[in-house]
Amino acid sequence: MNDELEELYQQVILDHSKRPRNFGKLPDAIHVHGDNPSCGDEIRLDVKFGPDGSVADMKFTGTGCAISQASASLMTLKLKGKPRAEAERLMHNFHTLVTSDTEPDTKGLGDLVLLRGVRKFPQRVKCAMLAWRAFEQALGEGGAVTTEGE
Ligand code: ZN
Repeated sequence: MNDELEELYQQVILDHSKRPRNFGKLPDAIHVHGDNPSCGDEIRLDVKFGPDGSVADMKFTGTGCAISQASASLMTLKLKGKPRAEAERLMHNFHTLVTSDTEPDTKGLGDLVLLRGVRKFPQRVKCAMLAWRAFEQALGEGGAVTTEGE
């Protein structure tokens, strides 16, 4: 394994993929199904928004590679309880982190910065972004999202 790949599979990532946080389902929530066929990752994201639009609660279930599941787990920890504008800011900054050579404002991303190594591996970017695309979809009412054709 080279150093860049090794960086991707640090203890925190492996831990979150093996013991995902906020794993489960929420009744009466917006459900989004996310699908990354190129790797075989799937997630179901359940989001509850508060009356003010904040992310009141969030859970997910899924199967797939360590990157996709760890990203989902870390995402729920970071977004839960956040005002909508803050959640959107974090989503935007995470996207920049994993797709661009420009360093985004990483404030608030916490352990999610460990996933920045995926930017070197386009297939892995789809894995890391799957949960976030599902969240983006949830912001716009729910439904299904796929990374196919990107
Ligand atoms: Zn994957």
